[in-house]
Amino acid sequence: MITTLKQDVRDANLELVERGLVFDTFGNASGIDRDLGLVVIKPSGVPYRELSPDDMAVVSLESGEHLEGLKPSSDTPTHLEIYRSFATVGGVAHTHSTWASSWAQAHRSIPCLGTTHADYFKGAIPCSRDLTGKEITGAYEQETGRVIVETFEALDPDEVPAVLVASHGVFTWGRDGSRAVLHAAVVEQVARMAQLSLELSPDLGQITSQLLDRHFLRKHGVHAYYGQVSG
Ligand SMILES: [Zn+2]
Repeated sequence: MITTLKQDVRDANLELVERGLVFDTFGNASGIDRDLGLVVIKPSGVPYRELSPDDMAVVSLESGEHLEGLKPSSDTPTHLEIYRSFATVGGVAHTHSTWASSWAQAHRSIPCLGTTHADYFKGAIPCSRDLTGKEITGAYEQETGRVIVETFEALDPDEVPAVLVASHGVFTWGRDGSRAVLHAAVVEQVARMAQLSLELSPDLGQITSQLLDRHFLRKHGVHAYYGQVSG
């Protein structure tokens, strides 16, 4: 089981690069086995092309203890906070992709301006608050995770599986690492489209709730009908 997860997480990290979401080494993906209470994540400072499944770092969900593989990514405590607070999440991805991180640096949530966005996110992709000085000088990566969770106090992480961390970048999640990476790619695309749309029409508002619900709900939930739905 954990062998398969290591392979899946390695592949998800390579997919981040293939999708053009990684600048230098700013990106990582992870996956979780909730039965075993183990998280598998990219190791710190290893070039993506050299990653093997056995290099993947295995840490305890509960304690964060490093159990197997190379030293885990320095962002691991952020991933762990997301797994601990969002019970349905099976994979997490983090990037500094250009368009989405530009919105994060501007401290702006990405409004839902079209159906590409609504197919994956049921509303705006929120931008977190800034971390305080104390949070930055303290357990920074864990505090980043706590700020992400705080951002979702009034939001459902299953309906909006992405967040912008102010002045930083993007965290996304999904049922596994590959899905989290797909969401990271969609965030980058809708960030770009939103910026271009607002340049063309600065007063543009979000799409109607009818259009938003129609697109989100045809792909998600009990009444989903998009794609090759079975059973
Ligand atoms: Zn980062």
